[in-house]
Amino acid sequence: MAFDLSALGSFLRSDDPPEAGGYPDPAPRVGFFTDTSVCIGCKACEVACKEWNAIPEDGLTFTGMSYDNSEHLGASTWRHVAFIEQQRPMGAGAAAGGSAGPVDLGMPAMPGGAGAPAAADDGSGDRTGMRWLMASDVCKHCTHAACLDVCPTGALFRTEFGTVVVQEDVCNGCGYCVSACPYGVIETRKDDGRAWKCTMCYDRLGAGQEPACAKACPTDSIQFGDLDELRVRAQARVEQLHEAGVPEARLYGADPDDGVGGDGAFFLLLDEPEVYGLPPDPVVTTRDLPVMWRNAALAAGALLTGLAATFLGRKR
Ligand code: SF4
Ligand code: SF4
Ligand code: SF4
Repeated sequence: MAFDLSALGSFLRSDDPPEAGGYPDPAPRVGFFTDTSVCIGCKACEVACKEWNAIPEDGLTFTGMSYDNSEHLGASTWRHVAFIEQQRPMGAGAAAGGSAGPVDLGMPAMPGGAGAPAAADDGSGDRTGMRWLMASDVCKHCTHAACLDVCPTGALFRTEFGTVVVQEDVCNGCGYCVSACPYGVIETRKDDGRAWKCTMCYDRLGAGQEPACAKACPTDSIQFGDLDELRVRAQARVEQLHEAGVPEARLYGADPDDGVGGDGAFFLLLDEPEVYGLPPDPVVTTRDLPVMWRNAALAAGALLTGLAATFLGRKR
């Protein structure tokens, strides 16, 4: 019996997530565009996610890391708002190599805040020499999702919307997905051992509603919708920011030719991805599996041939 290993490769590397999920007539692929330039760090998204999905609290600890008490994505943190403090002037603009401040990005000024009238500034619009970057992180719902590739029980599956969902009642807690995810998103919960992550509110999508986090975001930093439309909108926003003197604005995860085939949840960042704790060049960790399987099959074939030759030689 001949095995077609190329079929395995195309299964693992499909460019069309809904088709890969086995849906003959899928809905348009949906996703998130998170524009971090207008995030105010209110954490309404984190709270809405917890409320809607009945997620247990994740420690309630004071980390001492700015206002970031949830630290990172995890089994009980499906949205995480990162607070990054940088010793970099606000409002200095491109000429000084700095970032435009919140007012320049269309954000409201806060009394005493970085965007406030510059009572004691140095002429750059900055009074602190600091800036805050805030970014609401989430599962990327990758086009090539390694978590889904390695799941042995089918607990992880591709939905008709092109998103990636884990079913807690099918998960056996093996943890393969945890080590496979190139972003460190999915995690097993310590008390029950099963893997958990953002479902892009699969239940709400099925009812024609937008995800809870996007619904709760007061600044539209989290935008939900048709993925192709979001990519066009995001590119226009980057160009708008460049024209406004924010040359460091860039998209992350929006390129269908990147190492994961593009993310279903992508971001507009104001600095390098590493600053936000994101891998600069993520690659689907199952990328080399077809080659590895082919090499293993060839090695097994060569071994069997050698054994057969030895056996037949002895009989003569
Ligand atoms: S980010 Fe990780 S958990 Fe989310 S779909 Fe991609 S591989 Fe899976
Ligand atoms: S889409 Fe739903 S599950 Fe995912 S982070 Fe937002 S609220 Fe949570
Ligand atoms: S993404 Fe929206 S809801 Fe979440 S912290 Fe930022 S502004 Fe608030």
